[in-house]
Order: sequence, then structure tokens, then C-alpha cells
Amino acid sequence: MPRILTGWQPDAGLRAAARSRAVLLGALACAAPAGATDLAIVGARIIPAPDAAPIGNGVILVDDGRIEAVGSAGEVAVPDGVPRLEVDGQVIVAGFWNSHMHLLGEAYKDVARQPAGRLAAVLQEQYGHWGFTTVFDLASFGGDAPALKRRIEAGEVRGPRVLSVGMPFFPLDGTPVYTRQLLEEAGVPSPEVASAEEGRARAIRQLDEGLDGVKLFTGAILGRDGVKLMDAPVAAAVGRVARAPGKPVFAHPTTVRGMEIAIDGGANVLAHTTPADGPWSDGIVARLVRDDVAVVPTLAMFEIEIRREQAPPAVVERFVGNGQQQVAALAAAGGTVLFGTDAGYVEAFDTTRELQLLAATGLDWRQILASLTTAPAGFFGEGAQRGRIEPGAVADLVILGASPEQDATAFADVVHTLRGGKSIYSREAGAGPSR
Ligand SMILES: [Zn+2]
Repeated sequence: MPRILTGWQPDAGLRAAARSRAVLLGALACAAPAGATDLAIVGARIIPAPDAAPIGNGVILVDDGRIEAVGSAGEVAVPDGVPRLEVDGQVIVAGFWNSHMHLLGEAYKDVARQPAGRLAAVLQEQYGHWGFTTVFDLASFGGDAPALKRRIEAGEVRGPRVLSVGMPFFPLDGTPVYTRQLLEEAGVPSPEVASAEEGRARAIRQLDEGLDGVKLFTGAILGRDGVKLMDAPVAAAVGRVARAPGKPVFAHPTTVRGMEIAIDGGANVLAHTTPADGPWSDGIVARLVRDDVAVVPTLAMFEIEIRREQAPPAVVERFVGNGQQQVAALAAAGGTVLFGTDAGYVEAFDTTRELQLLAATGLDWRQILASLTTAPAGFFGEGAQRGRIEPGAVADLVILGASPEQDATAFADVVHTLRGGKSIYSREAGAGPSR
């Protein structure tokens, strides 16, 4: 049957509603009486969570941005008059987290003054299109992230929920080689930290501005000059400020020594694996697990970077293979893997390659789904609200065109992305290329 909801992207959807009998947008736009169901999503196979049994011919009821009920069509009745999104043959999973991206690039410059429609279109193409309902910006220019967060949370710009660390902390004389041009063009002084006291004061200021964590470059890549490590007391001073109120401390480690400085300093998320430094030993993996340090692999980004240097295929394979060994060893030891792409730093928003590389490490589709949903939600303290499709949870949902149970790249085959029960991406609205 034809899907009732044609053109369910905000603008196109409103136009469609105005000229046809499509009622959904109208129903969503009118304030529904409290307690009334706003939307029923029917017909899909529902995978409520990585550790839950899939539900065939499922129904999800959404009320006021939250999941009211979930179950099979035989268990959950759709009340009369409720707008229906018919998604027969499709698969629903919880909204994805991208735990490493950047609000960098033309679209986010002077973000407070960018037209709302343009920002929404960019966010839709870069993140909604790939199922992300929450994104963690791991370094952008001061002020951009708070301004974008405000506009999204006010409902003025439609997009994923944005969390951000704002400006990162670089070691003294340790501005990473690949950030120099960016900083110069923006006319922004490098965020190097000269002392523990300076780091502490800036961390307090940034968290007061409403940022959601901090990021330490404990091992900064200087190109021919090697790797500049952060002084341990500086890392510890910044780390303490963020960890006290329970905010995450991300680290860019580059080497195993950079990892150790990070963990000693209280970092609890490695923003990358460390493929340049060879495979991880059992000892370092055990330390990550014992200290509950999560890792964002960013394997596809490393592949892009090493290819950019025109490395021969055997070198590319060994380099990316190191990262894959690290992910496999961490997962086998029970550690936490968080999905992230470093999008915005690399112009690669399509998640397919990262999914392929993760699957090739031996992670199964449930572990990959966990890295996209339950693992970040739990790790960042929102496990009761997000990451699973269950009554009471926020209605952050991804509707896939195929099932990831056969092939994990189906997590990139996104038909609709809903954040809090509202569309932030719909393939049918012509919001992106069909696959
Ligand atoms: Zn990054």
C-alpha cells in the first residue's frame, strides 16, 4: 500500500499536507490534547535494542515526543484517528549517536546568523540522512556549538541533538599540524595550554558556557616533528574539572603513551584508536576495561588519511588493520566501543565504510547496534531515556530499508530519522539520493 506519509520532511511535508489529504503534519502541528497519541508507526520489524528479540509486524505509539507503547500489531492497538506512518517491510531501531564529529566547515561559520532552513538542510544531509539523532562535536570554534544548540533546542532549526566540547586543549607547542591552517584562516589563536592552572580555568569557563565535556590532545601530531605529548599535570587539571560534575573527558591519544597520559588524567573516552602505534597489548586493553574508558574507532577516517598520503595498499591495510585489531581486542575483553566518524574533519558523512570496517573486525550486528545506541546512551548517562525502543523513552527512531541482521551496512540504509517523534530526515521527501 502507498505510504500515507508522502513528503514528511518538515517543509515539503507541510506543503504536501496543505495540498492533499495527508493529515499527519497537520496533526503533529496542532497541539494534541495531553495524553493523546500523536503518531502510530506500523508494519515494521522492530529491533528494540541489541539484546532484545526483534518484533515482527510491530507498532510504536508516540505521545508528546516519547514512546507510549511498543509491541506487535496483535499486542498494541492503534487508537482511532491517530496519524499512521506505514512502514511495511522496513526495520526500526533506536536513534543513532555519532560520538565523534565536528561542527566545522562553511555551513557552521557564524552559525548564529545562518538562515535556519539552510542549517537544517545541512544537518539533514550530513547527520539525519545517516540516522543520527544525537551527535557529539569533539572540537569546533568557540561559540558555534552553543549557538547551534540553542537554535535547535528552541525548535528554530530542525536537527539532531548536539552535544559539544567546544575548543579542545592542545599541549604547549603542540598545535596539531592539520589544525594550523584552519585556525589561521579563522583568525583564532591556537588553544594550547601553558599550565595546569590555565587549563583548569579554561575548562571551568567552557563548562559554564554550557558545553558537555572537554577534549584533551594528550598526543598531538606535529608532522615531521613527531608527536607532542601533553604534560600529565595539565591533562589531570582539565580532567578533574570535567569529571567532577560527571562530564566526559575525551582524548586524542595518537600513541599508547598518549593513552596512558589521558587515562591517568581522568579521560574516559578515546576519540580514536591508535593505528600508527601498532597493535594494542593485553595490558593496555585490560587497563581500558578496568578504568571504563570507551573508544571511538574512527577506522574509515584513518583509511582516508593514510590514502591521502598515497601509501601503498599493503601499508594502508596494515595501518587500518592495527585499528581493527584494537577494536576487536577491546570488544573481546568486554570494553565499550562507541560509533563515530570524525565527520566534519573528513568530508565523509556516509557511514557505510565505517560499518564495513567494524564488521570486518568481527563485531556482529548487535555489537555494532550497541555502539550506535545503548553503549553511548548508557556511557553518557542517558540509558534510561535513550538507546532503546521502550515505553517512556524519547522517540528517537531510525527506520531502515533493510535489516542489519543480515548485513550491518543496512544501518546506513536510512529511510526516516525521527528525533523526539519528529522527522529530521525522510528519503521520500527527496532530501537525499536514494540508495
Ligand atoms: Zn576529530
